[in-house]
Amino acid sequence: MRNFISPILVSIIIFSVSCGFYSEEEISIMTQKIESLEEENALLQEELISAQNAATRDICRANMRTIASQEVVYFSANTEFTTNIDDLGMTGIVCPGCNEEYNITAGTDSYGFIYYSITCPELHGRINNGLPSWR
Ligand SMILES: [Zn+2]
Repeated sequence: MRNFISPILVSIIIFSVSCGFYSEEEISIMTQKIESLEEENALLQEELISAQNAATRDICRANMRTIASQEVVYFSANTEFTTNIDDLGMTGIVCPGCNEEYNITAGTDSYGFIYYSITCPELHGRINNGLPSWR
């Protein structure tokens, strides 16, 4: 939109100047206003993208929390965690940012502790044994 409006306004100004409608001072003021609006528009677009990214991240983290809850439910019935998202009743759940499946690992570590880990492929975070990587 920004790139579309400016050429039109500039064309109007050039046309007006050629017809003698505006003084050079008035044109200078209008040009400054256009530049100011362009800067404002760019900042608003940055804020919008930032808000969209935060919303996507929050949905992704909510997904991982739900998967983690389902791991606990699964464990209570099977005395082990699973890496299969279908076993958790969450088939098709993906990160909303990249639309890729979560990386789920589970098993027994070298100290003999049973664990599970859920990781977002787009770096929105990770949950290890119920503990999220974010605050
Ligand atoms: Zn994600």
